[in-house]
Amino acid sequence: MRQYRIAAIPGDGIGGEVIAAGVEALSACAKRDGGFALAFEHFDWGSQRYKDSGAFMPANGLDLIRNHDALLFGSAGAPDVPDHITLWGLRLAICQPFDQYANVRPTRILPGITSPLRRVAGPELDWVIVRENSEGEYAGVGGRVHRGLPEEAATDVSMFTRAGIARIMRFAFALARSRPRKLLTVVTKSNAQRHGMVLWDEIALEVAREFPDVTWDKMLVDAMTVRMTLKPESLDTVVATNLHADILSDLAAALAGSLGIAPTANLNPERTFPSMFEPIHGSAFDIVGKGIANPIGTFWTGVLMLEHLGERAAAARLMRAIERVTAEPRLHTPDLGGTATTRAVTTAVCEALTGDNL
Ligand code: NAD
Ligand code: MN
Repeated sequence: MRQYRIAAIPGDGIGGEVIAAGVEALSACAKRDGGFALAFEHFDWGSQRYKDSGAFMPANGLDLIRNHDALLFGSAGAPDVPDHITLWGLRLAICQPFDQYANVRPTRILPGITSPLRRVAGPELDWVIVRENSEGEYAGVGGRVHRGLPEEAATDVSMFTRAGIARIMRFAFALARSRPRKLLTVVTKSNAQRHGMVLWDEIALEVAREFPDVTWDKMLVDAMTVRMTLKPESLDTVVATNLHADILSDLAAALAGSLGIAPTANLNPERTFPSMFEPIHGSAFDIVGKGIANPIGTFWTGVLMLEHLGERAAAARLMRAIERVTAEPRLHTPDLGGTATTRAVTTAVCEALTGDNL
């Protein structure tokens, strides 16, 4: 039997609720498959630990999870801790040292879910956004001087490197080639940002020559929001910088019905380090503890994790179970306009897994 060690890091807010649901569904999926087992190890890292002890994770935290086969992450963010402290203290503290430079974000309109885009049916919106996840606007380069004085100044420098751009472009072109339409859109802002974004465009052109079978085009990020909204069927695979893809993928999630559905994988494609899987959403302070967090984003995240582990049959089975459940409006949580609870959706997905005969 194949064995995988998974580090579960629920973090803050509804992270605890959706990761518990995800562990339950993934365990049901492994049991139904019979060919592999998932051993989950839980880590209580997050804002509570920070408030109690001054650190989100222990000093040797990375060593404790370095040898796991995958990391399953919830959310980092608490109402009484500044967001840049939590993000850099936990999520980026894992993503960056583990060089998870490719952040993959599939978006589809699942069966039974209505998009706010009128007249758009499921097949017309089937995207995967590739987010550069290691540098760019979130490189952490910059500083703050003259604190509190009238001349106070602060900078965040967008750091783009040839190596960083080339590897994400190669990843995105290869992903586009693996999908039926072999279509890639490179998002840029090289009209206004004439250094980093021009290098981004130049390397896209260079890498494109290695992929003659992929059709690609270039789109300014502002115009991209319009195209996503008005011509969703014209897009397939998308690659964008850290900041641009962060914003565009929230838009994508909303256009596909809810932020509560959207999954993501933070990949270290070379597998030198473990990759990290998480729903796109955050701590959702407004619904925490109410038992109504949508667990579908975490389940779909589980699909990405199983694909990464090489468990393709189990991944496909979990995706089928998710689609069977979303197809039933009575199993929609309030973010989708329904009244179902996290518990009810989780039970339904586990039952769909057990009953799946394919
Ligand atoms: P959010 O994703 O937490 O919430 C935005 C809205 O979407 C809220 O109305 C929320 O109720 C709803 N929502 C989100 N997930 C849902 C789900 N699974 N089911 C039902 N509804 C859901 O975004 P925010 O309000 O901007 O951020 C709240 C906190 O989370 C902040 O501290 C932020 O920094 C943090 N955050 C963390 C991550 C991460 O760790 N990856 C990502 C985004 C935000
Ligand atoms: Mn985001």
